[in-house]
Amino acid sequence: MDNIKYCQSCGMPLSEVESEVIGTNADGSKNEDYCIYCYKDGEYTADMTMDQMIEFCVPYMASNNPGMTEEDSRKMMKEYFPKLKRWQNN
Ligand SMILES: [Zn+2]
Repeated sequence: MDNIKYCQSCGMPLSEVESEVIGTNADGSKNEDYCIYCYKDGEYTADMTMDQMIEFCVPYMASNNPGMTEEDSRKMMKEYFPKLKRWQNN
């Protein structure tokens, strides 16, 4: 688990193999705290609250985890997301 990084905005795993999913800084360098869907060219791609992000991710999480309902996904993310860097000051 230790060598897997997760996007500090949406919780998506950031695999080194799939470096194209890693976010980018304004100068084009990689920002390994975020995925490209959340953070691109030095800015968040969407200005949303933690709850909005959770609602956005619920269908993806549920469909990627067979047996997990949308309600399960929402509950898990509501516990997990406040630990992510982007949401810690909210
Ligand atoms: Zn992300």
